[in-house]
Amino acid sequence: MMRAILMGPPGAGKGTQAEMLIEHFKIPHISTGDMFRTAIKERTPLGLKAKEYMDSGALVPDEVTIGIVADRLAQADCLNGFLLDGFPRTAAQADALAKILSDLNMGLDGIINIEVEDAILLERLTGRRVCKQCSSTFHTVYHPSKEQGVCDKCGGELYQRSDDTLETAQNRLKVYNDQTEPLIAYYSEQGRLKRIQGDQEIGQVFRDVLDVLE
Ligand SMILES: [Zn+2]
Repeated sequence: MMRAILMGPPGAGKGTQAEMLIEHFKIPHISTGDMFRTAIKERTPLGLKAKEYMDSGALVPDEVTIGIVADRLAQADCLNGFLLDGFPRTAAQADALAKILSDLNMGLDGIINIEVEDAILLERLTGRRVCKQCSSTFHTVYHPSKEQGVCDKCGGELYQRSDDTLETAQNRLKVYNDQTEPLIAYYSEQGRLKRIQGDQEIGQVFRDVLDVLE
């Protein structure tokens, strides 16, 4: 049994840790993106409502998102736990989640925030290089090609995608930080936030996460 929330900025390695956690605890990975896609595919009333907003390019309002999360957490595969990823995003959503869980007679075992300094996140987010010919990906720091700017596999030219530039990465971090700061404060003030140092080897981050959960 493990009911947990996993948070962390872009570039913190949250996706990798999420995969390891759901494997370890045999629990479903509940990410907002996946939930929306499923609700839309299954044409649930809330899914159809979410689709209307998304088709018009608008943000899906909280009440719709919260309704979809409530439906999802009530499903049988969540009885043994779940890993929430991408929800809640705001303190208001966290309040709504507390109510959903209390209605389901469920509690939370862990609220985890993977923390990495902005300078390191920017290095991670801007280091990706992609081959023009075969689309292989490299990283200037973490997985460099043997010869700078040249693909190891096919000799093609490596380039930086427009969404990996410093300006885009800085903007993504700013949006993330502005949005989640009140949420971090919310759980922190309740004394429930577990902070994990994300600037370590992947296996060590995972051991630290398990330590605070178990
Ligand atoms: Zn290549």
